[in-house]
Amino acid sequence: MKHKAGFVNIIGHPNVGKSTLMNQLVGEQLSIITSKAQTTRHRILGIVNEENYQIVYSDTPGIIDPAYKMQEGMMKFVYSSLKDADIILLMLECGQQKLKDDRLNDFLNKTEVPVIILINKIDLSQQDKLEIEMNRWHEQLPKASILPLSALHAFNVDSLKQKIIELLPESPPYYPKDSLTDKSERFFVEEKIREKILLLYDQEVPYSAEVEVESFKDEEDILKIRAIIYVSRESQKGIIIGKEGRMLKKVGSSARKDLEEFFQKKIYLELYVKVNKDWRNDENQLKRFGYL
Ligand code: GDP
Ligand code: MG
Repeated sequence: MKHKAGFVNIIGHPNVGKSTLMNQLVGEQLSIITSKAQTTRHRILGIVNEENYQIVYSDTPGIIDPAYKMQEGMMKFVYSSLKDADIILLMLECGQQKLKDDRLNDFLNKTEVPVIILINKIDLSQQDKLEIEMNRWHEQLPKASILPLSALHAFNVDSLKQKIIELLPESPPYYPKDSLTDKSERFFVEEKIREKILLLYDQEVPYSAEVEVESFKDEEDILKIRAIIYVSRESQKGIIIGKEGRMLKKVGSSARKDLEEFFQKKIYLELYVKVNKDWRNDENQLKRFGYL
């Protein structure tokens, strides 16, 4: 059998379960998942290697109307991910009526690339309703095939894998066959800390926060990491730190636990908070954090 390889790109609205699916498909917690919209800000590759094939999945930020400069950058990731796709997975959730972006609808109807519509969270739906929905999506995007699934409960995820392998083009591998992702270890540390911020704080604070690993020292029996949490305003700094530093401690200890599991190593994690005014609208800052 000839070697197959290709890019499989997962797109869809925020919160439909794209990151959950990618982690299921890759078998690792590469992408952070929370119940909040816009958890994923970058495009993240997850690579699955077998003797005869290599699948390069990409998880993208949700499709949204770009209100901040940062979000314009996020939408660029979405569109660039469509350009290089060999297979497009359009993820929807039960009850969703249409796509927010008409351009996307047109693009998906025109493209030669196979599109698989995934109707996710079917654990929350009923059979008769699901059938009506499948028919409706078939009318909107007649060329696409449709698969209902539950990413969270891994229902139909194996059939999806089989389908992907069938559709994968013949090609040599794109990445070394032992790679799991294109992102650095630092990136995963930053994302894990951001996940904890999303989980532990309310309202605007998490969306104003960005994390940067300042130093990452892999010593023999311990990994020493120092990271900075940037926020846009002084008042947010106080919120992040919390009374007597309690909130920041919580962020640190829960991130550390997950990271010890991920790296299979003891971790010493130091966190600092700094104000970086209005970074979401500042081009230089966005470049620095990898959005532009
Ligand atoms: P993304 O924004 O599209 O990447 O969505 P996430 O993967 O971050 O998931 C958003 C929320 O939906 C999380 O709370 C997930 O646990 C939840 N979720 C994902 N898949 C399913 C599913 O199949 N069933 C249910 N009930 N919840 C799901
Ligand atoms: Mg996501």
